[in-house]
Amino acid sequence: RLYNEVIELKGNIRVFCRCRPLNQAEIANGCASVAEFDPSQENELQILSSDSSKKHFKFDHVFKPEDGQETVFAQTKPIVTSVLDGYNVCIFAYGQTGTGKTFTMEGTPENRGVNYRTLEELFRCSESRSHLMKFELSVSMLEVYNEKIRDLLVDNSNQPSKKLEVKQSAEGTQEVPGLVEAQVYNTDGVWDLLKKGYCVRSVGSTAANEQSSRSHCLLRVTVKGENLINGQRTRSHLWLVDLAGSERVGKVEVEGERLKESQFINKSLSALGDVISALASKTSHIPYRNSKLTHMLQNSLGGDCKTLMFVQISPSSADQGETLCSLNFASRVR
Ligand code: ADP
Ligand code: MG
Repeated sequence: RLYNEVIELKGNIRVFCRCRPLNQAEIANGCASVAEFDPSQENELQILSSDSSKKHFKFDHVFKPEDGQETVFAQTKPIVTSVLDGYNVCIFAYGQTGTGKTFTMEGTPENRGVNYRTLEELFRCSESRSHLMKFELSVSMLEVYNEKIRDLLVDNSNQPSKKLEVKQSAEGTQEVPGLVEAQVYNTDGVWDLLKKGYCVRSVGSTAANEQSSRSHCLLRVTVKGENLINGQRTRSHLWLVDLAGSERVGKVEVEGERLKESQFINKSLSALGDVISALASKTSHIPYRNSKLTHMLQNSLGGDCKTLMFVQISPSSADQGETLCSLNFASRVR
């Protein structure tokens, strides 16, 4: 590696759990919190069952409902900045719709999330290393919906979008030819670009939230580095992924378009789980090709790449079943 900051990463795959607060509607409906946190343990939580037994889970870190965006980013920072050292990095937000995946990654204008904070930090770090390294940052944004890839930096709301595919390059890496890669120079430029992408994402559908919970939204940061002393060059990717909702669709809804969507979501989320657990167990065959998502991310998952999964949960008693499913999924990949 060209440059080593004092970053200790414990292994290459990490799982952080984040529990959102109970919302107004849940409080009004008398939902209780089933998530319990031990104040002395930063990486454990318990879920209360209806029979008052408790299920215990342990992750690399557990964020409580009161933990804000800054607290979350403080733990995420060493992982994202390793892209400047030439590592490929993938960060996922996994969980049921309404648990805060988009809040964690995208955030709100007042409470910006991991995506914006990451770029801010990358600009800051590259500036502080500018006597040694020259960095060039560019950003791509895309969506995977029903196994189709859509470029979010191309406003094609008035015409059918150009189809993007994953192709293997001559060097053996997986690329998406034709995907827009917009160079960014400062945080203002980044915020404008992210806003544009988020906007294109929602314009494409009649019910914005509906659709966004059924597609994967990916932000890719490409870092090109040049060592000013020996001229060595690096190129690495950081992927920030807001996954489709992991909830199982109710039986009554499962027909037509909805059935197709949920089959695609199930397929790609389980393909992702299979890939990460295969990597964690160090088996030799990693089934990248089973979905567009894992195929596209192939070069950024495994090897010496860094992977972080946020498993997002609701504290509400009404969501207890989905919460246990998500925590079990995340325990499997760890
Ligand atoms: P998802 O993307 O998983 O469907 P959202 O990010 O849209 O969920 O979150 C659902 C709602 O809950 C949003 O209004 C969001 O602002 C709020 N929310 C989620 N997580 C938190 C949190 N940690 N603190 C405060 N509000 C949150
Ligand atoms: Mg969302």
